[in-house]
Amino acid sequence: MTTTAGPHRAAGPGGRFRRPADGAPASRLRLPPRIAQAAIALGAVAVLVLWWTDTTAVVSAGAWITDAGRLLGLLAGYGTAVLLLLMARIPAVDRGVGTDRLARWHSFGGRYTVGLVVGHILLITWGYAVTAHQGLLGEGVDLVLHYPDLLIGSIGVLLLFLVGLVSAGAVRRRVRYETWYYLHLLTYLAIYLTFWHQLANGAQFVLDDKARAGWYLLYAGSGLLLLWFRWLVPGRRALRHRLRVAEVRTEAPGVVSVLLTGRHLAELARITEPGQFYRWRFLAPGLAWSANPYSLSAPADERFLRITVKELGGHSAAVARLAPGTRVLAEGPYGGFTAGRRRQAKVLLLAGGVGITPLRALFETLPAGPGELTLLYRASSEHDLVFRAELEAISRDRGARLRYLLGSRDEEPLDARTLMELLPDVREHDVYLCGPPGMTDLAHEALAAAGVPRRNVHHESFAF
Ligand SMILES: Cc1cc2nc3c(=O)[nH]c(=O)nc-3n(C[C@H](O)[C@H](O)[C@H](O)COP(=O)(O)OP(=O)(O)OC[C@H]3O[C@@H](n4cnc5c(N)ncnc54)[C@H](O)[C@@H]3O)c2cc1C
Repeated sequence: MTTTAGPHRAAGPGGRFRRPADGAPASRLRLPPRIAQAAIALGAVAVLVLWWTDTTAVVSAGAWITDAGRLLGLLAGYGTAVLLLLMARIPAVDRGVGTDRLARWHSFGGRYTVGLVVGHILLITWGYAVTAHQGLLGEGVDLVLHYPDLLIGSIGVLLLFLVGLVSAGAVRRRVRYETWYYLHLLTYLAIYLTFWHQLANGAQFVLDDKARAGWYLLYAGSGLLLLWFRWLVPGRRALRHRLRVAEVRTEAPGVVSVLLTGRHLAELARITEPGQFYRWRFLAPGLAWSANPYSLSAPADERFLRITVKELGGHSAAVARLAPGTRVLAEGPYGGFTAGRRRQAKVLLLAGGVGITPLRALFETLPAGPGELTLLYRASSEHDLVFRAELEAISRDRGARLRYLLGSRDEEPLDARTLMELLPDVREHDVYLCGPPGMTDLAHEALAAAGVPRRNVHHESFAF
């Protein structure tokens, strides 16, 4: 097998672990997950303070209920801006928190926000109904018809509910990824429509200029960050680098590598860390509407980027048929599955199936002295191993351990015993784990049983 990205020694002088690798990307700011959570919580506290200070003496049951509804509305408005920020792909946040964790926070936060919106609508309507001595339904209709911004906001809320519905687990599993994705874009319209209702009808904003300015700032800031990092930066990079397919080569049954070339690739190599991924949009018939995530399977260099794709569905199968010269738009680099997560000198890379891709890049580049780095690669059979020659060359070159675990789960279980036979001091290792969900679930159990602290296990999920 020939390789373009040849393995080279990557350990620092003396082979000792040092956090930043030589030649690593220039910008490596990382926002740790705890700081991100603290910032989100702080914002929520600020919203509570705003509500508290702008709420005048409450004199009746109706007013109590209405004010509780206002608080939920404010929190829902704040939650919406946070949801936008979580998906803005701000590099320091993406690298520090990790794209998969951000997506989980986003979907979890989305459910809370929809819950807050429902609570807001119910409490406000109930509060007004109690004050006006009216029925709930009649009051609801009155409110929507008498406040034009509320009518527009209600359309926004209906759109939010639609998006929430298609994102709910049971429905999401049944619709195509692209259908879900394009329906999800309606969220932007929903946010735009509900924003004006918040400013026009929210008691806090009608009465308090500073609160209104702060709300504008929150939404404008989130919108601009989103626009910048999700559209303008990728757009500029597409024009500058003009990526195209150089070659497609078969690695194993149903697995191909795609080599991509373009202009000024050294710049991309500088900002891309081994272990990261891009979303790839191939401008070929049937593929241009989707941008699927694939990790780089070798460190980027000034000549090529390489991805390696296992055929699982429509997109991944079509990748194998790409013609050289096909133009490609790449959005990224994304993800925090990189050397920056590392805490220990010793590292175990644990790969299952096509999960080898980011680990192959890390195997070559993670700074480590002889004996400090181990790759355990699980596959159904020898034929399914990809990069075998490359991995063996890197292993020889770096003095790193390479072990295969071949066969079914029953024949070759991935359990604590296997791990401790391979590495008696496995608990002193950082573990980078990537593979199909069944394998990674078992690996988490085995690592916990072998005494590896959860905080030292870094997992890249291929399922969003
Ligand atoms: C961070 C990350 C890195 C990945 N790296 C690799 C890699 O190096 N090599 C590899 O072979 N696979 C990788 N994958 C998995 C790969 O993205 C999916 O297998 C592929 O997109 C499936 O698309 P499909 O049309 O072939 O299959 P489908 O049957 O259409 O999709 C199967 C599942 O893949 C997911 N998916 C589909 N399209 C997208 C999309 N545009 N964005 C996100 N998820 C999508 C959905 O969960 C879907 O249910 C990675 C996934 C993630 C999240």
